[in-house]
Amino acid sequence: MTEAPVTIDAMTGQLRALGVGAGGVLLVHTSFRAVRPVEGGPGGLIAALQAAVGPEGTLVMPSWTDRDDAPFDPAADRANTDLGVVADIFWRLPGVLRSDHPFAFAARGPKAAALLADPLPLPPHIPASPVGRVHDLDGQVLLLGVGHDADTTIHLAELIASVPYGVEHHVTVASAGGPARIAYRENDHCCRRFALVGDWLDARGLQRRGKVGHADALLARSRAVVAVATEALARDPLVFLHAPEDGCAECDAARASIAA
Ligand SMILES: [Zn+2]
Repeated sequence: MTEAPVTIDAMTGQLRALGVGAGGVLLVHTSFRAVRPVEGGPGGLIAALQAAVGPEGTLVMPSWTDRDDAPFDPAADRANTDLGVVADIFWRLPGVLRSDHPFAFAARGPKAAALLADPLPLPPHIPASPVGRVHDLDGQVLLLGVGHDADTTIHLAELIASVPYGVEHHVTVASAGGPARIAYRENDHCCRRFALVGDWLDARGLQRRGKVGHADALLARSRAVVAVATEALARDPLVFLHAPEDGCAECDAARASIAA
């Protein structure tokens, strides 16, 4: 059975009912597979998001690349396939700005330039990064068809809380002498336990739940996400890592990095 497409106007109404504020900063993580079918496809969803924030609002999406062995070209490099089709369409639209470094976000609206102004952030989600600027500007985080395991703002919280783990990654940047490789340590792991943040937000009434298109939607303020995550990290700095007996290779690598 095919579900009926949700119209752009209806999606805008769903976003407003969920609590998306006109004139604000809205950071969106999306799995379009969960949202569809909707009028206009991924572009229709973006139109509804833009209508919900209005002309004074700023829409933001992750837009980083999956290439770490070549310099980033913000005008040509597709967004990491993990970010989904909506993110990869968004940065190509008229009026959308994109970071000039490989940990890119894309944004459209009055705050877009300020959100994307920081130089290459290392690790990628420090306070002086797009996700940090969304937090500074008291933006909202919207998860469409994805859970908090896709919520990059929690990596910002880990860095604010100075988590002890960090695995080695590298990125390649253009330099006068040709492409240059930069190694860095990132608070990386499987991220599945980030789902706990949704429970903590619900327990405090800091998260709205609804539907956008056909997808389950979660909405919270960036500052609320960071607040509940940093509080939990203060009690247990490893709260987001799977226990050794869970057999998660990525979280085991993060644990092993603590002594390194
Ligand atoms: Zn894990």
